[in-house]
Amino acid sequence: MSLTQTRPAADPLVDAASPLLEVAGAGVRVPLADGREVRHVNLDYAATSPALVSVAERVLGALPSYASVHRGAGLLSQRSTALYEEARATIATFAGARPGDVAVVTRNTTDALNLLAGAVPAGAGDVLVLDSEHHANLLPWRARAHREVAHAPTIAETLERIEHALAVRPVALLAVTGASNVTGETLPLRELAELAHSYGARLAVDAAQLAPHRPLDLAGWDADYVAFSGHKMYAPFGAGALVGRRDWLDAAPPHLLGGGATENVTATGTTWRAAPARHEGGTPNLLGTVALAAACDALTAVGADRLRAHEDRLRARLVIDGLDRLPGVRTHRIWADSGDAVGVVAFSIDGRSPAEVSEALAQTHGIGLRAGRLCAHPLLDRFALPDGALRASFGVGTTAEDVDRLLDALDDWAG
Ligand code: PMP
Repeated sequence: MSLTQTRPAADPLVDAASPLLEVAGAGVRVPLADGREVRHVNLDYAATSPALVSVAERVLGALPSYASVHRGAGLLSQRSTALYEEARATIATFAGARPGDVAVVTRNTTDALNLLAGAVPAGAGDVLVLDSEHHANLLPWRARAHREVAHAPTIAETLERIEHALAVRPVALLAVTGASNVTGETLPLRELAELAHSYGARLAVDAAQLAPHRPLDLAGWDADYVAFSGHKMYAPFGAGALVGRRDWLDAAPPHLLGGGATENVTATGTTWRAAPARHEGGTPNLLGTVALAAACDALTAVGADRLRAHEDRLRARLVIDGLDRLPGVRTHRIWADSGDAVGVVAFSIDGRSPAEVSEALAQTHGIGLRAGRLCAHPLLDRFALPDGALRASFGVGTTAEDVDRLLDALDDWAG
């Protein structure tokens, strides 16, 4: 099977000259407005990353056994059920789950956080979130008792504000982003878990942007829940996950009512199963779950150090050696003291609308990135960017040449 035209070099750590892993579509060429054709540069991994070739191969390998999950006595059904449950176990391990934690397969992070929002016990206290969150970790909580804490200029002061909010009224759950979808900045999750627990609250981590870039470690952070999306970590096919403490998930109203979630249905009533089945009504997404598990395996095999080294080089090349030196270009950050950021960078060009620049980058240079308010409207309001920002984001398939293509294009544009 050949989905790409490039192969990773033996040691891509030297200068990020090669992709760290092989992604589908790496060599795809696109037409420009002037009729020329160029290799497409994908700098929009934070929205949806390309598929890993190893993920696509795993999915193809599962197809001959593809049949109903949890629903048939036939041999293929049994194989499909085993594949599904093995994939679930892989996903739980990837999340750093403790024995006794449960991994629910969801559609994506949005779905996972909506599920969790329905599982917070009534009367247990408020849910606390920061105003810097993606809408997926903001809007599900607005339907229930919740408070939004305005982020401070530093992480240290933001933690003080969170502590104050925890102290004034009971909190059931603190829900934070692991890595910002706007700036890539990460939060100190172990510290946040300790803080939340010291006030009797739990910690949920929106890891949609963290999972493709840093190891997840529920047990090590001592966090209670983590949510992530396959399509942002090289595994399209529509699966995500919510992993964490069993008690709330066993007691919660079923997330999707239907077949598979029930123990028994009578003329007048229903007995629901425990989690995860309780929340997985309908036929499970076998191929999506297999794909997600394959991505977990691939990222684990690459190793956190290599992932980080590759990305740090790309980020330094883009920001320190590039954007920071271009006249009229400003990069954005939430916190002055954030030490770590994943491969997500927001920036603006003075006097240019982000939509206009992104359109020109696509039409004239064959570069794909995101522009706008990035599903984080309150944060972009705090940045005083009513038209939003530009966002370049990257990962295992990105090379230094990709970054240089963007910088060269911006040089023309900004200069
Ligand atoms: N949280 C963050 C931080 C995100 O970046 C995103 C997606 N942009 C989401 C949640 C929602 O993810 P999904 O669209 O896969 O549900």
